Amino acid sequence: MTSILDILPYFVTSWILLTIAVAVFFLVNKDPVLKRRAWKPIVLVVCGVLAGFLVLMGFYISSVVVAIIGFVNLDKVRICSACGTMHMPGSLFSAPAKFCSKCGSQLD
Ligand SMILES: [Zn+2]
Repeated sequence: MTSILDILPYFVTSWILLTIAVAVFFLVNKDPVLKRRAWKPIVLVVCGVLAGFLVLMGFYISSVVVAIIGFVNLDKVRICSACGTMHMPGSLFSAPAKFCSKCGSQLD
């Protein structure tokens, strides 16, 4: 039986590395098409890895929360097709942005 303390270093390391990798990808990459294409797989992989670790550590409710956060990200975050700017909702209950705040293009 593995304990939480056995898994925790791998969980924290994975979380930090995923955060850095995703941040670098979205900050360095200037291609809006690639950003839009990569968004859903990235959210699914990150949420899957984090939820998997939480389940391994016995935090089943937390893994459900991670799944809900992933669903909200897929549903509400928009990436501008023209300039690649990412638009996140102001709150969980905010509607997704309809227009890009940087270039004014319509977001779909
Ligand atoms: Zn834009």
